[in-house]
Amino acid sequence: MRAKEGSNIAVFLDRDGTINEDTGYLHKPEELVVINGAAEAIKRLNSASVTVVVVSNQSGVGRGYFTDSDVEAVNDRLVDVIGGDGASIDAIYYCNHHPDEDCVCRKPSTGMLKKASAEHGIDLTNSYVVGDKGSDIELAFNAGAKGVLVLTGKGQDESHKLKRPADFVAEDLMNAVLWILDDLKKRRAVSLTDR
Ligand SMILES: [Mg+2]
Ligand SMILES: [Zn+2]
Repeated sequence: MRAKEGSNIAVFLDRDGTINEDTGYLHKPEELVVINGAAEAIKRLNSASVTVVVVSNQSGVGRGYFTDSDVEAVNDRLVDVIGGDGASIDAIYYCNHHPDEDCVCRKPSTGMLKKASAEHGIDLTNSYVVGDKGSDIELAFNAGAKGVLVLTGKGQDESHKLKRPADFVAEDLMNAVLWILDDLKKRRAVSLTDR
Protein backbone atom coordinates (compact mmCIF):
# COMPACT_ATOMS: atom_id res chain seq x y z
CA MET A 1 0.00 0.00 0.00
CA ARG A 2 1.23 3.44 -0.85
CA ALA A 3 1.92 5.81 2.03
CA LYS A 4 -0.36 8.81 2.27
CA GLU A 5 1.17 11.80 0.48
CA GLY A 6 3.25 13.92 2.82
CA SER A 7 2.78 11.69 5.84
CA ASN A 8 6.18 10.02 6.09
CA ILE A 9 8.75 11.15 8.61
CA ALA A 10 12.31 11.22 7.33
CA VAL A 11 15.77 11.64 8.73
CA PHE A 12 17.92 13.47 6.20
CA LEU A 13 21.55 12.51 6.64
CA ASP A 14 24.56 14.40 5.45
CA ARG A 15 27.13 12.01 3.95
CA ASP A 16 30.76 13.13 4.47
CA GLY A 17 31.63 13.60 8.14
CA THR A 18 28.30 12.17 9.27
CA ILE A 19 28.01 8.63 7.83
CA ASN A 20 31.56 8.29 6.54
CA GLU A 21 34.85 9.95 7.38
CA ASP A 22 35.31 13.31 5.66
CA THR A 23 38.60 12.89 3.83
CA GLY A 24 38.07 16.08 1.78
CA TYR A 25 36.45 15.83 -1.66
CA LEU A 26 36.16 12.06 -1.34
CA HIS A 27 35.67 10.60 -4.82
CA LYS A 28 37.32 7.16 -4.74
CA PRO A 29 35.03 4.37 -3.54
CA GLU A 30 37.99 2.43 -2.14
CA GLU A 31 38.74 5.37 0.20
CA LEU A 32 35.30 5.29 1.81
CA VAL A 33 35.46 4.62 5.56
CA VAL A 34 32.13 4.32 7.37
CA ILE A 35 32.19 5.92 10.85
CA ASN A 36 31.85 3.45 13.74
CA GLY A 37 28.24 2.73 14.58
CA ALA A 38 26.82 4.59 11.57
CA ALA A 39 25.42 1.48 9.87
CA GLU A 40 23.85 0.31 13.13
CA ALA A 41 22.32 3.78 13.60
CA ILE A 42 20.74 3.66 10.12
CA LYS A 43 19.47 0.17 10.88
CA ARG A 44 17.66 1.53 13.96
CA LEU A 45 15.91 4.10 11.73
CA ASN A 46 14.95 1.33 9.28
CA SER A 47 13.46 -0.70 12.16
CA ALA A 48 11.44 2.31 13.32
CA SER A 49 10.06 2.74 9.75
CA VAL A 50 11.63 6.18 9.44
CA THR A 51 12.56 7.10 5.85
CA VAL A 52 16.33 7.54 5.49
CA VAL A 53 17.46 10.04 2.86
CA VAL A 54 21.05 11.12 2.22
CA VAL A 55 21.50 14.76 1.12
CA SER A 56 25.02 15.75 0.15
CA ASN A 57 26.75 18.82 -1.28
CA GLN A 58 29.26 17.61 -3.87
CA SER A 59 30.64 20.86 -5.29
CA GLY A 60 33.77 18.95 -6.33
CA VAL A 61 31.83 18.21 -9.54
CA GLY A 62 31.12 21.90 -10.23
CA ARG A 63 34.71 22.74 -9.35
CA GLY A 64 35.95 20.20 -11.90
CA TYR A 65 37.73 17.99 -9.32
CA PHE A 66 35.71 14.87 -10.20
CA THR A 67 32.59 13.76 -12.08
CA ASP A 68 29.03 12.68 -11.33
CA SER A 69 30.03 9.07 -11.95
CA ASP A 70 32.70 9.38 -9.22
CA VAL A 71 30.04 10.64 -6.77
CA GLU A 72 27.72 7.81 -7.78
CA ALA A 73 30.50 5.22 -7.36
CA VAL A 74 31.13 6.42 -3.79
CA ASN A 75 27.38 6.41 -3.08
CA ASP A 76 27.07 2.86 -4.46
CA ARG A 77 29.96 1.74 -2.28
CA LEU A 78 28.32 3.34 0.78
CA VAL A 79 25.04 1.51 0.07
CA ASP A 80 27.01 -1.76 -0.32
CA VAL A 81 29.06 -1.37 2.85
CA ILE A 82 26.19 -0.46 5.17
CA GLY A 83 23.98 -3.00 3.38
CA GLY A 84 26.49 -5.63 4.49
CA ASP A 85 25.56 -4.62 8.05
CA GLY A 86 21.83 -4.86 7.29
CA ALA A 87 21.20 -1.12 6.97
CA SER A 88 19.48 0.54 4.03
CA ILE A 89 19.09 4.03 2.62
CA ASP A 90 15.79 4.90 0.92
CA ALA A 91 17.15 7.62 -1.37
CA ILE A 92 20.28 9.64 -2.05
CA TYR A 93 20.29 13.20 -3.44
CA TYR A 94 23.31 15.35 -4.07
CA CYS A 95 24.04 18.82 -5.37
CA ASN A 96 26.83 18.87 -7.94
CA HIS A 97 26.92 22.64 -8.42
CA HIS A 98 29.66 25.16 -7.72
CA PRO A 99 28.72 27.46 -4.80
CA ASP A 100 28.77 30.47 -7.20
CA GLU A 101 26.01 28.92 -9.34
CA ASP A 102 23.36 29.93 -6.78
CA CYS A 103 21.37 26.76 -7.39
CA VAL A 104 18.29 25.79 -5.37
CA CYS A 105 19.77 22.50 -4.17
CA ARG A 106 23.05 23.35 -2.45
CA LYS A 107 22.57 23.11 1.32
CA PRO A 108 21.38 25.17 3.18
CA SER A 109 18.89 25.69 0.31
CA THR A 110 16.01 23.25 0.50
CA GLY A 111 15.81 21.97 -3.11
CA MET A 112 16.89 18.41 -2.29
CA LEU A 113 14.46 18.17 0.64
CA LYS A 114 11.56 19.47 -1.43
CA LYS A 115 12.34 16.96 -4.18
CA ALA A 116 12.54 14.13 -1.65
CA SER A 117 9.31 15.29 -0.05
CA ALA A 118 7.49 15.16 -3.39
CA GLU A 119 9.00 11.83 -4.42
CA HIS A 120 8.64 10.02 -1.10
CA GLY A 121 5.62 11.70 0.51
CA ILE A 122 7.67 13.22 3.33
CA ASP A 123 6.30 15.69 5.84
CA LEU A 124 9.32 18.00 6.21
CA THR A 125 8.06 19.81 9.32
CA ASN A 126 8.02 16.55 11.27
CA SER A 127 11.38 15.43 9.91
CA TYR A 128 15.02 15.78 10.98
CA VAL A 129 18.35 16.77 9.41
CA VAL A 130 21.60 15.36 10.81
CA GLY A 131 24.95 16.75 9.73
CA ASP A 132 28.38 17.94 10.81
CA LYS A 133 28.12 21.50 9.49
CA GLY A 134 26.29 24.73 10.19
CA SER A 135 24.76 24.49 6.71
CA ASP A 136 23.02 21.25 7.76
CA ILE A 137 21.50 22.99 10.78
CA GLU A 138 20.43 25.97 8.63
CA LEU A 139 18.93 23.53 6.13
CA ALA A 140 16.80 22.06 8.91
CA PHE A 141 15.67 25.56 9.93
CA ASN A 142 14.89 26.54 6.31
CA ALA A 143 12.77 23.41 5.84
CA GLY A 144 10.97 23.69 9.18
CA ALA A 145 12.60 20.46 10.36
CA LYS A 146 14.69 19.75 13.46
CA GLY A 147 18.48 19.91 13.15
CA VAL A 148 21.01 17.69 14.89
CA LEU A 149 24.73 18.50 14.75
CA VAL A 150 27.11 15.55 15.02
CA LEU A 151 30.60 16.13 16.42
CA THR A 152 32.22 13.74 13.92
CA GLY A 153 33.73 15.14 10.71
CA LYS A 154 33.91 18.95 10.95
CA GLY A 155 31.31 19.01 13.73
CA GLN A 156 33.69 19.91 16.55
CA ASP A 157 34.86 23.09 14.73
CA GLU A 158 31.43 23.96 13.40
CA SER A 159 29.82 23.73 16.84
CA HIS A 160 31.53 27.00 17.83
CA LYS A 161 30.25 28.99 14.85
CA LEU A 162 26.64 27.96 14.35
CA LYS A 163 24.38 30.77 13.10
CA ARG A 164 21.42 28.96 14.64
CA PRO A 165 21.44 26.61 17.59
CA ALA A 166 20.97 22.93 16.81
CA ASP A 167 18.02 21.15 18.40
CA PHE A 168 20.55 18.64 19.68
CA VAL A 169 24.32 18.18 19.54
CA ALA A 170 25.31 14.50 19.31
CA GLU A 171 28.63 12.74 19.70
CA ASP A 172 28.02 10.77 16.52
CA LEU A 173 25.27 9.42 14.28
CA MET A 174 24.24 6.68 16.73
CA ASN A 175 23.82 9.25 19.50
CA ALA A 176 21.84 11.46 17.08
CA VAL A 177 19.52 8.62 16.08
CA LEU A 178 18.85 7.62 19.70
CA TRP A 179 17.85 11.23 20.43
CA ILE A 180 15.60 11.36 17.36
CA LEU A 181 13.85 8.07 18.19
CA ASP A 182 13.27 9.33 21.73
CA ASP A 183 11.97 12.68 20.41
CA LEU A 184 9.57 10.86 18.07
CA LYS A 185 8.29 8.74 20.95
CA LYS A 186 7.61 11.88 23.03
CA ARG A 187 5.82 13.58 20.14
CA ARG A 188 3.61 10.54 19.56
CA ALA A 189 2.72 10.49 23.25
CA VAL A 190 1.76 14.17 23.04
CA SER A 191 -0.41 13.70 19.95
CA LEU A 192 -2.25 10.82 21.67
CA THR A 193 -3.01 13.02 24.68
CA ASP A 194 -4.29 15.77 22.39
CA ARG A 195 -6.98 13.54 20.93
MG1 LIG B 1 29.44 16.87 6.08
ZN1 LIG C 1 22.84 22.47 -6.60
